[in-house]
Amino acid sequence: MINGIGVSAGIAIGKAFVLHRQTNALTGLLLADDSMIAAEIEKFDIAVTQSLIEVNILIDSYDETNGSDGLEILEAHIELLSDPQIKEDVAEKISAEKKNVNDAVIEVIAIAVVMFNSMDDEYMKDRAADVQDIGRRILTNLNSAGKATGQTYPPDTVIIAADLSPSDTISMDIMRVVGFATQIGSKTSHAAIVAKSRGIPAIVGCGAVLQEINNGDLLILDGQTGKILINPDSETLFEYQLKREIWLVETALLKSQKDRLAITTDGTTISLFANIANAQDMELAHDFGAEGSGLLRTELLFMGRDSLPGEDEQFEFYKAVVLKAKSKPVIVRTLDIGGDKQLPYFDFPIEQNPFLGYRAIRICLDRPELFLTQLKAILRASAFGKLKIMFPMIANVQEIRAAKVILNQAIEELNEAGIGFDRTIEIGIMIEIPSAAVTADLLAKEVDFFSIGTNDLCQYTLAVDRMNEKISNLYDPYNPGVLRLIDNVIKQAHKNNIEVGMCGELAADPDATLLLMGMGLTEFSMSAAAIPHIKNIIINNHMALANQIYQQVMAMDNSTLISAYLKDTTA
Ligand code: PEP
Ligand code: MG
Repeated sequence: MINGIGVSAGIAIGKAFVLHRQTNALTGLLLADDSMIAAEIEKFDIAVTQSLIEVNILIDSYDETNGSDGLEILEAHIELLSDPQIKEDVAEKISAEKKNVNDAVIEVIAIAVVMFNSMDDEYMKDRAADVQDIGRRILTNLNSAGKATGQTYPPDTVIIAADLSPSDTISMDIMRVVGFATQIGSKTSHAAIVAKSRGIPAIVGCGAVLQEINNGDLLILDGQTGKILINPDSETLFEYQLKREIWLVETALLKSQKDRLAITTDGTTISLFANIANAQDMELAHDFGAEGSGLLRTELLFMGRDSLPGEDEQFEFYKAVVLKAKSKPVIVRTLDIGGDKQLPYFDFPIEQNPFLGYRAIRICLDRPELFLTQLKAILRASAFGKLKIMFPMIANVQEIRAAKVILNQAIEELNEAGIGFDRTIEIGIMIEIPSAAVTADLLAKEVDFFSIGTNDLCQYTLAVDRMNEKISNLYDPYNPGVLRLIDNVIKQAHKNNIEVGMCGELAADPDATLLLMGMGLTEFSMSAAAIPHIKNIIINNHMALANQIYQQVMAMDNSTLISAYLKDTTA
C-alpha cells in the first residue's frame, strides 16, 4: 500500500499505466484497435517535426568558433530525422504489430543502433550515437509536458506519473482514465484542482515509492484517504468495488438536489458557483446545481498547444462557455500563466522563484498586445450572455488602473469597428496576495467585485510553496493570519458595497463552510463535484450557528485548535 495526499474524492479501480517522461522504457501496451493506428503515426510525425525544428535552431545558433565538428553532428541529425526508412519502420511496427508509438520508436532506434555498431567503417559506427541521440529527442517530444495527453489509453486506466501538468489532466480522456497518482504535488497544485473539477479520483505527493508500481498492476485508488492498493486480494477488491458503488450512489443522490437552492434553515441564501476550464465543464456544472461560474481559468485554453490562440479563436471559446452557461453569470479570469502553468511556446525567463515572478497580470501588463487580444475576445463574447472580467494576482491599485487602460483601449477598438458587447460588464479582481487583502479598502474603490483566491493567498501569507509536498503540512488555511485576511476582505467589500466571493479551494472545504458564512460570505465557487456536499451543509444549518462558529474561531490563537473545533462542530 502507498499513502499519498487524496485530492479528488472517489474510488478508482483499474490497471496502471506508468507514464515515463524522458526515459526509454517500453510500456508493452498494444493498441486496443486499428482505429488508433493513424493517430499513433501522426504523433510520430509531429514529434519528428518538432525535433527538426529544435535541431535547426541549434544549427542556426551554432557558434563556429567552437570548430565545425558539432555542426557536422547536428547536420547528421537532420539527415537521420529526415530518413524515410525510420518513419517506414516505425509505421510498420505500429500498423502491423499494434505497438504504441513510444514502443515502436524505442524498438526501431535500438535495431538501428545495433546495425550501425556492427559496421566496419568507423564513420558509420559513429552514427550509432547519433541515432541514439535523435531517438532520445523524438521520445522526449513524444512524452514532453502537454503532449503525453495525446496518448490513447486502454479502458479503466489509472495513470501513474512523476508529475502531471494541468494540461495533461484537462485533456485526459475520462471515458478511459479512471484515476491518477503522482509522485509530487499537493492539494492546490493545478493538476489536482483540474482532476477535482472533472471528478477524476486522484492522489498526489506519493513520493518515490510510486516507482514500485509497474505497468499493468491492478490498482485501487482511494481519492479521499490518499491510499493506493497494489494488486489487492479478491476480498479487498470486492470491498472496494462495493465502496465504489456506494460512492457512485451517494454522488447521484446529492446531485439529485441540484435544483434546490442553497438556503439555510433561517432563510439565508448562499450562491454556489463552479470553477471551470471550458464549455464542457460549464455544461457538466449544471448537473451539480451550479448557479454559474465564479472562475473560468482561461489559461487552460492556452495550454497543451503549440502557439497562442488568436482573438477569433478565443472569442469562439468564451462564446461557447457563455452559451453553455444559459444566462447564468460567468467570471472570466484573464490569463494567469506562470508558476506551475507553463506554456511550451511562450518565452518564460528562467526564474529562481516562478511563483513570485513573471506571472499572470504582470505578464499581461508587460505584453499589452497579448492582453488586448484576450480582452477584446472576452468583450465580444459578453454580447451573448452574462460575463464578468476578473484580473488575477493583483498586488496594488496601480495594476488595476493599468489593466483598465488596456481594457478601455479594447472597448475603443470594438466601438470603432462597430462590434457589440455588454457595456455594463462588471470588472473584478482576485484577492490572492496579502498586500491586496490588507488594502482591500483601497482596492474596493476601483472594482465591482472581489474573489478571494485562497490557494495563492495561503501560499503567500504563510510563505509555503503550494506545490511542495514536503511542506504540505504547513500549508494551512486555518492559520489565524490567513483567516484574518479573509475576514478583512469580506468586511471591506461589504463596507464599500461591492460583491465578494471565494474561488480558492477553501470554498470547497466542508469544515470551513459555516465559518465563512459567519464571516458574511455568500458566494462560493468550487469544483462542480463539490457543490452538492457544500449545499447539503448549508441547507441543514442555521446562520446563528455560523455566527457562533465565527466568533469562537476568531478568538482562537492557533490552527490546531481551530481545525479540531471546526471538525467537531460541523460533524
Ligand atoms: C487561487 O489562487 O486561490 C485561485 C483560485 O487561483 P489558482 O488556483 O488558479 O491560482
Ligand atoms: Mg491563484
